[in-house]
Amino acid sequence: MLDTTIAGSLPKPSWLAEPERLWAPWRLSGDQLAEGKRDAVLLALRAQEDAGIDIVSDGEQTRQHFVHGILEGIAGIDFARRRRIGIRADRYEADVPTVTGPLSRRAPIHAAEAAFARRHTRHRLKFTMPGPMTIVDTIADEHYGDRARLAMAFAGVLNEEARDLAAAGVDMIQFDEPAFNVYLDDVKSWGVAALHAAIAGVGATTAVHICYGYGIDANRAWKRSLGAEWRQYEDIFPALNRSRIDQVSLECANSRVPLELLRLLPDKTLLVGAIDVATNAVETPEQVAATLRASLKHAAVERVQPCTNCGMVPLPRPVAEGKLAALAAGAALLRRELR
Ligand code: ZN
Repeated sequence: MLDTTIAGSLPKPSWLAEPERLWAPWRLSGDQLAEGKRDAVLLALRAQEDAGIDIVSDGEQTRQHFVHGILEGIAGIDFARRRRIGIRADRYEADVPTVTGPLSRRAPIHAAEAAFARRHTRHRLKFTMPGPMTIVDTIADEHYGDRARLAMAFAGVLNEEARDLAAAGVDMIQFDEPAFNVYLDDVKSWGVAALHAAIAGVGATTAVHICYGYGIDANRAWKRSLGAEWRQYEDIFPALNRSRIDQVSLECANSRVPLELLRLLPDKTLLVGAIDVATNAVETPEQVAATLRASLKHAAVERVQPCTNCGMVPLPRPVAEGKLAALAAGAALLRRELR
């Protein structure tokens, strides 16, 4: 009951990449970088286990950014052809690579990393990848000329990858779709279809993570513009509840999402974000328990997994470790209360 997990990313050790920065450049190269990434995965697993997290991830230690990690293994993308584009409906700008030809996977991309993580933890293991719509929103395209077609092409690659991850022993495969909160009509017209293509035939539990972004200034300003109630989920949850995705990861801590919207997902496991990643203030276990308790007014406890609002990669490492411990302690507190 109330098995805890995290949205995915954790801060990287300062010897591996510059701390508290998105797209932080690596501080190692060549064989040293490969070894450093493996060491960082071990630390990330251990940090979660020590904190008492039940379903652990590799902390996304092996990729520079949650979207561009996988893209490096896909043919048809020119990383030298960089363009500055507005992403998430122009909320912020990013320098992105360009799709210049048909997409195909050169070889398994994350399978060896997943197998390594699998060998080093006995906990259930989760692995995250960007979802098709979010990739499409974080890349320039000079080949497909249509976002839905491009998304389906990426979904094919993601599906090959997801099958390999499941074969490597990953229990939960999560697709990160922050773009779902932005392009509400596209979710219904092709976003869910692309997710279905990505999970087809995958022998693992599947999840989609839909948040309001990392705690960076552009996201804080966007959230301020959304008014007193954030009702984006209301638009997309009915389609997600009808989908074949098993779990939905959402942002509940310090958010203005009306929790009654959870009722729109009666058939899904809910990864309830009870840790705010947009502040360095570490929650108390009581605060975590209060967020979770509020969600239980709208979802049976059997369907709730305490989680973080989003990835913790931009946070200082001690803050992230404090938040992991608070998440586990808050869930434990509530478990005792419910017994
Ligand atoms: Zn997120």
